[in-house]
Formats: sequence, structure tokens, C-alpha cells
Amino acid sequence: MRYIFFLIGILCMSITSCNNPAIPEPMSEQSIEGKIAIAIHGGAGNLKKLNLTEAQEAEYKAVLDSALNAGYAVLKKGGTSIDAVEATIQVMEDSPLFNAGKGAVFNHDGKNEMDAAIMNGADLSCGAVAGVQHVKNPIRAARVVMENSEHILLTAKGAEDFVSQFGVQFVDASYFYTDLRWQQLKEAIAEDSVKLDHDGKKASAQFTIEQLREEKFGTVGCVALDQFGNIAAGTSTGGLTNKRYGRIGDAPLIGAGTYANNNSCAVSCTGRGEDFIRNTIAADIAAQVEYLKIPLDSAVHHSIQEKLKATKGRGGCIAIDRFGHISMSFTTTGMYRGWIDCEGKREVSIY
Ligand code: ASP
Repeated sequence: MRYIFFLIGILCMSITSCNNPAIPEPMSEQSIEGKIAIAIHGGAGNLKKLNLTEAQEAEYKAVLDSALNAGYAVLKKGGTSIDAVEATIQVMEDSPLFNAGKGAVFNHDGKNEMDAAIMNGADLSCGAVAGVQHVKNPIRAARVVMENSEHILLTAKGAEDFVSQFGVQFVDASYFYTDLRWQQLKEAIAEDSVKLDHDGKKASAQFTIEQLREEKFGTVGCVALDQFGNIAAGTSTGGLTNKRYGRIGDAPLIGAGTYANNNSCAVSCTGRGEDFIRNTIAADIAAQVEYLKIPLDSAVHHSIQEKLKATKGRGGCIAIDRFGHISMSFTTTGMYRGWIDCEGKREVSIY
């Protein structure tokens, strides 16, 4: 009886999948090949219907739709999941609505410091940049590090100097200025809502409870499955408004905010990075799938709704496996998100 309830629970949690919505049947390589699917997020947070006008909601959904279209078009033409992830994220980075690229938030000093990572589940190759200030599309820079460097994560000037040799587009820091983000910074400073430790005595306890409740995280991410049965993940972010300069979040840390491995799943996270780092959320989900052989939904649910929540972590994630199962979960009231499953069914939603 308990087993039946367990199965029903798992079925209810499933958002979408190719065959059985909950438990991937062991499939031959051949039956995996040919399926394509994609999922995206545009950040989690205290998102309530009350806070967005219909017009604003439509604007967000339009960008999510275009992002999905960009990635799906790559997959449909027979492109790779890593190409789809990059193409999708670039669309969201170019929109001022999301906290990545053009819409990146300001740090305490009024600067934009962006982080991004990309990972290929086929061979575990990955690349990341952190604290870049002049790269138009940080996800491109992450890809360049992945493909041209023997390293995985490059930061700040070192990252910019390196990627400048590979045709990455640079912009003046003023490109990232938006009135909305500047206003948010002024409010955060006025409320002292991110308590920065300027004298270096207290590195922790940076947020008031009120600020955590109100906070919206606008990081963008994508996970995809290509027709070759390979999965990939990418995440790009401006980090947290009013963050201390030099602070690096979870997005560029492989295993924390971003991870992909064909043997388990591809994951992209959003939320207060420190919580994701201390719980190594992306790696935690993948490890459960790989070692416990449990369905993706169960692993995602455990890591987000139990593990992350146990440390009062706020945020969520999207995940995909090579069977095309898509799963997502968040502890906040909403998460901008969308997906196209391997039957071509699509959905974009916020709350
Ligand atoms: N995870 C990001 C960070 O902490 C923020 C976000 O998701 O918006 O840098």
C-alpha cells in the first residue's frame, strides 16, 4: 500500500517526461537517440501574481518563449545540447528583464560583476567565468574557457584577458546600466538590506530576514537534451544586488549551481548562491540519480525541498536527464521557467 502511495506521489511531482512520467525505464542507446528536449529558468523569487501587471507578465513570457525557441531551433536542426544551451542563454542575457548580461544587477560599488558556467554531459568538459565586467554574453566567455583553456574557472581581469583572444564581444560597463537595477541598488543600500562587512570582521550574516523574503533572483539557466542523447547545462547571472565586490555565487561553480553528466542529469540552479554552494545542490541531485538510481523528480525534490530548505535556502532549479525527463522545483513563490518536452509539448510559467 505504501509503495502505491509512493508511486502516486512521484507521478504527481512529475512535470513532464517522454514515456512513463515518473520512472525512466532502462532504454537502449538507440531508443534514447533522436529525442530532444529543453528547459529554462529566468530566476526564482518572491513572485506573486499581485506583483506583476498583465503587460509585465506578457513581457517576461515573451522573452522566455524566444529563449526556448532559440535553443529548440538548434536542437531541431540536429545541433548539440551545448549549442542549444548557449543560444538560449544568450537570448535571456540580451534582455534587460533578467539578472544576467544586459540586466545584471549592481554590486555595492555600483558595478556589474557577472558569473556564468556551461557544462557538457557527454564528456564532462566545462568552463566558467566569474566577476567579468565587460563581456556582453558571459555564457559565451564560459564556453570559450571550456573549449580553449586547460582550466575550468577564470575570474575577473584574468578571464577577460583570456577570452578577448577568441573574438568574444566586449562592451563598455555602461551597457549594463538600467534604471531598474540602479534603483534596486539604491533601495538595498538605503534599507541596509545586504549587510556588507566593510571592516572584514563578519563575513557571514549578510541578509536581513525581510530582505530574504522580498528578494527576487533573476539568474538565467538552461538544460537540454540533443538527438545524440547528450545533455548539457548552463547558468548566467549578475549575482545579488548590493553584493560585496569580488563575491562569487553558485552559478560558475561546477556542482553547486551548474552540472551536467550523461550518467545522471544536467542541472541549473537559481537562488541565494551561498545556500547552493554549501549544499552543492547540482552535484547532489546528480549523485542521487547516479548512485541511488532514483527518478530525476525524486532527486530534485529531495535536494530542493528537503536539503536546501533545511538550511533555509531560497531558490530552485531545472534538470533534465538523457531520457528526456524534465524536472523543476523551487522553495520560493515563483520561478520564471519554461520547457519543451520530447513530445514537443511546451509551457512557460512564472508562479
Ligand atoms: N544564484 C545567483 C547568485 O547567488 C543569484 C540568482 O540566482 O539570481 O549569484
